[in-house]
Amino acid sequence: MDGDDPKDDSVEPKEEDWTLYSTAAYASVDDVWDDSIDDSKNDESEEEWFDGDDFDTGSSSVDWDSPPCPAPLGISHLIRIGVCNHCLHRVSGRRTEKDGAEGGSILRDEAFNRDAELSSSEIPELCPLCENLFDDTENIVERIAEQTGQVDHGTIQIGVHIPKDLIQEEDRIRTRHGAPGSRPLKSSFTESIQLGLNSIMEDVRFVRERPDLMILIDCLTLRVDVDIRPVFVYGRYRKLDRGIPQTRWPCRACRGRSDGCESCEGTGLQYVDSVQDLIGIPFVTALSGDDTSFHGMGREDIDVRCLGRGRPFVLEIKHPRNRRTDLDEMIKIVNESANGKVEINELSWCNKKEVSRIKETRSEKSYTIRFKIDQPPENNVIIESISNLNGVTLEQQTPKRVSHRRADKNRKRRITSIENILIEGNEVQFSVRCEAGTYVKELVHSDEGRTVPSVAGILETDCEVIWLDVEEIHAD
Ligand SMILES: [Zn+2]
Ligand SMILES: [Zn+2]
Repeated sequence: MDGDDPKDDSVEPKEEDWTLYSTAAYASVDDVWDDSIDDSKNDESEEEWFDGDDFDTGSSSVDWDSPPCPAPLGISHLIRIGVCNHCLHRVSGRRTEKDGAEGGSILRDEAFNRDAELSSSEIPELCPLCENLFDDTENIVERIAEQTGQVDHGTIQIGVHIPKDLIQEEDRIRTRHGAPGSRPLKSSFTESIQLGLNSIMEDVRFVRERPDLMILIDCLTLRVDVDIRPVFVYGRYRKLDRGIPQTRWPCRACRGRSDGCESCEGTGLQYVDSVQDLIGIPFVTALSGDDTSFHGMGREDIDVRCLGRGRPFVLEIKHPRNRRTDLDEMIKIVNESANGKVEINELSWCNKKEVSRIKETRSEKSYTIRFKIDQPPENNVIIESISNLNGVTLEQQTPKRVSHRRADKNRKRRITSIENILIEGNEVQFSVRCEAGTYVKELVHSDEGRTVPSVAGILETDCEVIWLDVEEIHAD
């Protein structure tokens, strides 16, 4: 279309499904014990509900023959059922000189001193709270370090996938025998991975949203997946050449096969150049990325130039091994390599939110259009007729040329202003400012009466569009 439709066929990026495994999604589990130490529980109004327990343990009630940690009997119970040193420490509710497994070892020795029989009792091989997951911490940290060594990053989000039955069993044992407020397996394990990474990586921060790297750990297979999150650059482009699509356009014959076909000369592309690649390829090179997505604030037709300050866009660079480069330098590099076909300006780093904003913004635009009149009336009639379209609201039925990909509907679009009407023989040119989504070519040639009113309709003769330029996008 020569107007713009922000809802064009590009699709909003979706959150990856596996973020569901991330620590944030389990935050509520961390709070299981918080209520039980809330002072407001002593409020008199709640006294009639007091059922004899000192504190609420959720679903289970307290067994005073086997009290929860930090009671010594509770610790002994955990040792008896085969809890590893790491888990012993984390659910004991005790402070020890050392943390982690070393702290657990101290507690275990203390318990053995209290009860010699305990040391001789048979201990199951697998810790019922973690199935010895904490033994793998170092191994996993090493794998992460290997996979991220060559990648530039400041922030990391860790997602841990633990089998559901283990989570449930751990929760059951911990809530019954662990100390109130003990941290659940998932967040404890995530923390131990983070501590491990902190000791070998400089300046890394762990976050719960918008990380540079998302790392997913599958605790069953110990598989580590590192997802390098994209970077986003905002800018404006001017398209100075007719015949360039905004986004990469796969070859119609081979549907963009990577080795192409005869008709596309092996490129896989219907058009060799696109605004996306003219801007994107230098960025992929500079940031060592894999590919790009291009999000424009609407788009112009292939044969339409885009002038003025240019069209706002967000370029998404996927899997960048480097996350920063000098943007002023990039403007020069892109403008030189695009060789007058495309020019960019006003670059700045942005985030994914900017993509939605760009897609949702609907702004007025100014165009210049030139067309041929089949049987031109007197010049003053032409000028008066076109001037009369000033301020008019058009009724536009979805144009035939786009009807294969758009719903057939009638839309109303307002003409804000018309000026600079120029007549040269049977060719006419004028500038028009109009609402977002106006089909401007149709305003002139009427699309067989689908656009009312139109220049062709008013002049009662055929009008053939020669060219169209976007002069300004009145946004940002
Ligand atoms: Zn354990
Ligand atoms: Zn092809």
